[in-house]
Amino acid sequence: MKRIVSLLLALVLSVSLLLTARAESAVFALRADTVICAAGGTEVSVDIVADANPGVAGLNFQIAYDPALTLKSVTRGGALRSMSYTPPGDLAANPVSITMDSTTNDTSIGTLVTLTFEVPAAAKSYPIRLTRTVGNIVDQNRSVVADSLTSGAVVVPGGGFLLYADKVEASVSESGTEIAVPIRLDSNPGIAGLLFRIAYDPALTLKSITRGDALASMTFTPPGDLSANPINITMDSPSDDASTGTVLTLVFEAAAAAHDRYAVNLSYSARNFVNQNYEYVPVTMVGGSVTAHNWNSGTVTVPATCTADGETLCTCTDCGATKTEVLPATGHTLIYAAASGVLTETCAYCDHTATATVSAVRSRYTGEPIAAATVAYADGWLGGETEIVYENNTAVGTATASITAGGATAAAAFKIYTPGDVDGNGTVNMRDVLALRQFMAGGYGVEIATEDGDLDRNGTVNMLDLLTLRQFMAGGYGVTLE
Ligand SMILES: [Zn+2]
Ligand SMILES: [Zn+2]
Repeated sequence: MKRIVSLLLALVLSVSLLLTARAESAVFALRADTVICAAGGTEVSVDIVADANPGVAGLNFQIAYDPALTLKSVTRGGALRSMSYTPPGDLAANPVSITMDSTTNDTSIGTLVTLTFEVPAAAKSYPIRLTRTVGNIVDQNRSVVADSLTSGAVVVPGGGFLLYADKVEASVSESGTEIAVPIRLDSNPGIAGLLFRIAYDPALTLKSITRGDALASMTFTPPGDLSANPINITMDSPSDDASTGTVLTLVFEAAAAAHDRYAVNLSYSARNFVNQNYEYVPVTMVGGSVTAHNWNSGTVTVPATCTADGETLCTCTDCGATKTEVLPATGHTLIYAAASGVLTETCAYCDHTATATVSAVRSRYTGEPIAAATVAYADGWLGGETEIVYENNTAVGTATASITAGGATAAAAFKIYTPGDVDGNGTVNMRDVLALRQFMAGGYGVEIATEDGDLDRNGTVNMLDLLTLRQFMAGGYGVTLE
């Protein structure tokens, strides 16, 4: 008997679980977003979103908003596009009615309409409530579709402690990967003790909690058991901390396999937020979420260039949400060419151009290898520092210095000389005196470069140089050659 009862019980339980699961998926879940408005007095957009949709063919619902808000526009979103939409005739009406209908069911999810409000400056949470009368959400068989309506708000910070969780847009393919949800603090009159709770969708697994920069002076007692849901966050300090920013970052693992939205809700009791004088601190909390989207590969809206990042606009194939992804800059495709001592660097795809120029100075012979070359790089040169390779730089004569980049080699020649060796045979002797005299006389077929024959460095080769060389050979005249 006992066994039969437990068997029956198990059967009833499993049937009811099945029903619950079915009932859940058959609900048209409509939600007004909660938006934190950075500064009052500006315009803010609030999405009305269908998170789940078993199929609807007609709907009429009302959006009632705080009378301090001014409705500026209602624009259609990406969801329920197969339905005819009748825009509200009078934007000043409050509530406004949203009406859509079709001959067949539309099962899409995502943003139905976006409302743009002008927001007053006063710090406050301005509610946006969704209502409908029974029978106004129906399918193509005119059967009433079960619904769940969630109201939203426009929150203007400044009225006290504002704690909120981020709305994170994830990807269905991120199953098993970690999704970070920051808990942030926007407005803080100063606090010395707090306790709040974070309740998250059971499809999420909490992996870690790390502290952020905000409330760093307070002592944080981490939850003892990460698998507890909700978890308690406790912080305290002997004196007020008025910092803002990221308080904590929760890292979740999502069992994401289908498009879904997982709520991360924050809650508190008023007596658990106190300042150093044991006064209660007013608190506003706004929950966040992790939405698993089915992003497509996207279309390039801003092409990437060699040096600038581009943008790709990806769209969720389930709900029509969009996100912008960065297309990294491609980097240059560099090509090198050489002409005498100049290496020219260009890009195959853009107008980048830069040069590296090798040059070397005429150098006095020492018997050691002579490194007489330098490289000048023009602004923007990307080829890095080039190595200078020398040839014939140990003996008197013509040496070369070369640099190579991308297979191109640029070279500069330079002379290694012995002062007075005007015929360049490596030694200074009477042959040089003779060569200089014949050069001066002309007609002997002797060529002497000015730099070799101008022994007194006065700029020309003339009789003074011949005199200088002769006195050097004779010795005792105090003549040195440079
Ligand atoms: Zn989506
Ligand atoms: Zn380029």
